[in-house]
Amino acid sequence: MSDSDSTKLVYSFSSGRADGNAGQRELLGGKGAGLAEMTNLGIPVPPGFTISTAVCAHYSDAAQNGAEGAARYPKGMWNDVEQAMGVVEQATGCKFGASQKPLLVSVRSGAAVSMPGMMDTILNLGLNETTVEALATETDNPRFAWDSYRRFIQMYGNVVLGVGTAKFEHLLEQAMKARQIERDSELEASDLMELVPKYLALVETETGGKFPTDPMDQLHGAIEAVLNSWNNERAVLYRRIHRIHTLKGTAVNVQAMVFGNMGEDSGTGVCFTRDPSTGENTPFGEFLTNAQGEDVVAGVRTPTPLSELEKVLPEASADLHEAMDKLEHHFKDMQDLEFTIQHGKLYLLQTRNGKRTATAALEIAADMVKNGILTPEEALLKIDAMALDQLLHPSFDPKADKKRLATGIPASPGCVVGHVALTPDRAEEMTDAGKQVILVRLETSPEDLKGMAKSLGFLTARGGKTSHAAVVARQMGKSCIAGCSTLAIDGDTFKLGERSFTEGDVISLDGALGEVYEGAIPTVDRGLPETFQQIMSWADDARRMKVRTNSETPTDCKKAREFGAEGIGLCRTEHMFFEEDRIQNVRRMILAGTPQERVEAIGGLLPMQRGDFEEIFTIMDDLPVNIRLLDPPLHEFLPHDAESQRVLAESVGIEVSEVARRVEALGETNPMLGHRGCRLGITHPEIYDMQMRAILEAAINVTAKGIKVHPEIMIPLAATDRELANLRARLLRVADTVFAEKGSKVAFQIGTMIEVPRAALTAGQLAAEAEFFSFGTNDLTQMTFGFSRDDVAGFLPRYIELGLIPVDPFDSLDKDGVGRLMKIAVDDGRATRSNLKIGICGESGGDPASIEFCESLGMTYVSCSPYRIPTARLAAAQAAIRARKS
Ligand code: ADP
Ligand code: MG
Ligand code: MG
Repeated sequence: MSDSDSTKLVYSFSSGRADGNAGQRELLGGKGAGLAEMTNLGIPVPPGFTISTAVCAHYSDAAQNGAEGAARYPKGMWNDVEQAMGVVEQATGCKFGASQKPLLVSVRSGAAVSMPGMMDTILNLGLNETTVEALATETDNPRFAWDSYRRFIQMYGNVVLGVGTAKFEHLLEQAMKARQIERDSELEASDLMELVPKYLALVETETGGKFPTDPMDQLHGAIEAVLNSWNNERAVLYRRIHRIHTLKGTAVNVQAMVFGNMGEDSGTGVCFTRDPSTGENTPFGEFLTNAQGEDVVAGVRTPTPLSELEKVLPEASADLHEAMDKLEHHFKDMQDLEFTIQHGKLYLLQTRNGKRTATAALEIAADMVKNGILTPEEALLKIDAMALDQLLHPSFDPKADKKRLATGIPASPGCVVGHVALTPDRAEEMTDAGKQVILVRLETSPEDLKGMAKSLGFLTARGGKTSHAAVVARQMGKSCIAGCSTLAIDGDTFKLGERSFTEGDVISLDGALGEVYEGAIPTVDRGLPETFQQIMSWADDARRMKVRTNSETPTDCKKAREFGAEGIGLCRTEHMFFEEDRIQNVRRMILAGTPQERVEAIGGLLPMQRGDFEEIFTIMDDLPVNIRLLDPPLHEFLPHDAESQRVLAESVGIEVSEVARRVEALGETNPMLGHRGCRLGITHPEIYDMQMRAILEAAINVTAKGIKVHPEIMIPLAATDRELANLRARLLRVADTVFAEKGSKVAFQIGTMIEVPRAALTAGQLAAEAEFFSFGTNDLTQMTFGFSRDDVAGFLPRYIELGLIPVDPFDSLDKDGVGRLMKIAVDDGRATRSNLKIGICGESGGDPASIEFCESLGMTYVSCSPYRIPTARLAAAQAAIRARKS
């Protein structure tokens, strides 16, 4: 083995000494790093070695460049592997491939981030005709030896040689049938000795080649299979869904076998040092005696609760509890362990930080602070901020029976039960008739909003985490599963996979898992755990940035305050225009023939807008409220079907053909880049005048009632400082008029969104006309990439698959491009106006990675949808703590 660390490819762990340690996750993978650390801690681990992730990276690159066979491996690697094998032989006193005391090993994958079940493990490697006999004689247990051999042929045959598991299972079933037994554990040595040649023959017919007998060949094949598995479909999909994109590859762990299937004094199990669903501080786990590897998870036999281990194998149990204690204190986190007991002796095979529910995460963090294991800041860093919104939604009763119908992309968490509606209209009808509804669509569009608002959750066949349905769901705090490819809709029936249903049938959605179940699964509302407030107050102490909310309805504003919002970062006034009693006036305003008619129609909107703002100011008492003036193109407010146009024409008193003509005239080829935002404010100044008036009148009215107001008036889509100067002057004139009329004043600020690249690039000039900036990262991302957000579905998934873009930039901020523009805007804006307030109000304002970036820019606040607020509070704290550390 070479000594220089940077070129070292193979890391041994054996006899209480390991080359690596827990700090080397990137290089050794989580499993390898854990095995090394446990070895160094003196915990009993079977000896072995880890082939570093650098080898996998090298292998994948070489394979992509067309290299074959040995040329795919870094030079000297196989030599290092043979040497490391020698170390294992020495430690165990066994020899790989020998006819006496043969060494058997497992070959396991393991990346820096655990990807459960994504790549398969091969156990009992090294068995062949000769070694199986040796194993049988030496253990005096032929059944065990032949059972290990048949398991090995099946695993290797499947994982390395690609023979379907079902084909092996079929042979196994035949053997059981012949003996009229129901469990494979009842097969005897002689049965297994007959089965093995059938397995070997199966491999030969399926692959056209012989099953490898030389253990060294077997090892080559297994290592190569692990390296190939890094890019198999399952693994690629898993990484994509979980946004794992920085890893170089998987490590390969080769480790001496220990056997839990040597009799009743042996066994295997898995355990957590605490309860992963409640966080309670009692070990939690299961084991099986006389079993190997995956048997516990495979569910062939019902495993025994860990608490029973003490009775069956007291010494091993005591050792296990000691190891759990040691590991938890060492890693300062709840551990998830795999263990095997061979003839009463305990071995650990894996340790990692255990996955847990959000409730458990809070509970464990708080308890570890209480017990002095962690400081509050350390504890905050251990909690997955993204998982917090789980707590805000009810969940399915974990004890309930569930029949899964389909799986899709988990787009917005929440467990909901409802009758299926296949159109937004039906969703409305059914809800109004008193039913709970789940809207099931191929995809959704803005026209579906009303029906969506009336549904509890959405299931769509197309789209991903940034699809319309997903974004709306997260905004509204509804459950959503997108991209459910086995969903087909036909009239008023639909299919989920093979199963057919009719509109009105009941299904259940778990939006956090992306799973659809048949019928109604009972839910449990656990309420916020006690520890929530405690953890949040630590987070609030630790963070620098403020957290605001994107809300415009009183319900959302109240929710947001409850979750800890410190203001509104984006109040979209157009949402107020869509409401039934107003849309008519909005349409009349758009269709007005003369400025006079327009002013009249707008006048009809004024009291309603004023009322909205009074309500919002009152709820948000003494907190800043950022109100964005009208943003979307007028076209969006007009009806597009003939019938609605007829109704409109009648109510406004003009010809239908004229309505149709206006709708057509307002149509744009590219509305996202069209007549909207401040461009509309400049050409139709009456609209912004009315909005400004409504805001200020509302502010004055509620101030008179003792409410404190901090209005921030935000101009959307500005590209130049002159647009701002123009509108600002006009808005200030309105303010003067209103103040004179009312005989009273309120303080307010005028600022702008930064969502056009030119605005970011000329931020120094814009800051002269703006008291605050707010990054509208949805538009800024669209315009920076030149990606139309509504049309990315055709290519973005492929881009992400190919790694051309690491993550969906609408989901998590693109730091290199969009982020660069933001940095310019922050620096130049503050150079002009040092106290410039700077926030973010795009979707990414609730994304932890984006929040961390905002912290690094020194921004004032982040703003997100109400249900993301706890996540944002924690993520802002984590970002601040990390920034202070480095
Ligand atoms: P996964 O990552 O899917 O958990 P693992 O590589 O951890 O896969 O292994 C699968 C199973 O095989 C686990 O139960 C593990 O404990 C067991 N196992 C792995 N290596 C050995 C070994 N050397 N001796 C005994 N059991 C092993
Ligand atoms: Mg494992
Ligand atoms: Mg915008």
